[in-house]
Amino acid sequence: MRARTRLGRFELIVCTDGTYRLDGGAMFGVVPKTLWQKRAPADELNRIMLGLNTVVVRTGRHTVVIETGIGNKQNAKMREIHRNEELLPASLAGAGVKPEEVDIVINSHLHFDHCGWNTTLHPDGSITPTFPNARYFAHLGEVEHGHLQLDRDRVSYLSPNYDPLIESGRMTLLTTEGIQTDSGIVPGVSVELFPGHTHQLMAIHIESEGQHACYISDLIPTTAHLDPTWVMGYDLDPLKSIEQKKRFYQRAIPEKWLVLFTHDHHTPMATIEWDEKGKPVAKPADDHLISVSE
Ligand SMILES: [Zn+2]
Repeated sequence: MRARTRLGRFELIVCTDGTYRLDGGAMFGVVPKTLWQKRAPADELNRIMLGLNTVVVRTGRHTVVIETGIGNKQNAKMREIHRNEELLPASLAGAGVKPEEVDIVINSHLHFDHCGWNTTLHPDGSITPTFPNARYFAHLGEVEHGHLQLDRDRVSYLSPNYDPLIESGRMTLLTTEGIQTDSGIVPGVSVELFPGHTHQLMAIHIESEGQHACYISDLIPTTAHLDPTWVMGYDLDPLKSIEQKKRFYQRAIPEKWLVLFTHDHHTPMATIEWDEKGKPVAKPADDHLISVSE
């Protein structure tokens, strides 16, 4: 577990699938290495260490899991490249969250490092839902994009993370029109589109008794990506990401949202403020943070 806090009547627990490594250049797009390496030191293969944060929301009536890490379906070559650790089941157990009690799973988008533990690969080769009693939610456009298997990003879309759930009727596919009419998943938990990283990237809002947290996913993957122009090379539409970050700050900063970072291992949650130069900076929620090894 990385952190635990209360939000109104809700409890938020940040669990982790462990750390993994991605190319630092790809994570910071056109930002020069001389600048980004001060915030994220690169290893000998130019990779930087990232976290894989899963947020569990206990609302009192529902147990919601936001994002499910990389999972255990990576082949040996991909595991060697990413050095991922497959820790989410242990992290959930350590936080006292049983897979059977989870009734809602939400994927912000369907890249391999956000929905891997939707399903579990067993030694006999079978694949089953990791959360046997859950309804899963993802955007229809993400599934359709993944199925296209485009040259640009097919390695990021692994259908065993979602196709078995769609085929068995466990996954609800949201549409943009549907979200515009009703963005709620359960009371206090809703989604909103922030396109740019992918065409249908969803943030997850969590609101209870006037307090507001937001899992902003790969729009702002770590606290090193707060500057609106520090967008990832992976983004399909980086100009849109810049616009959407500014749109996010217009509400997140004055309303003092607790921002949940998907890939920041050390600062999984923070509020954001403007500094004296007008740049967004993170104010870590230290008083809520319980740091442990998993
Ligand atoms: Zn992504």
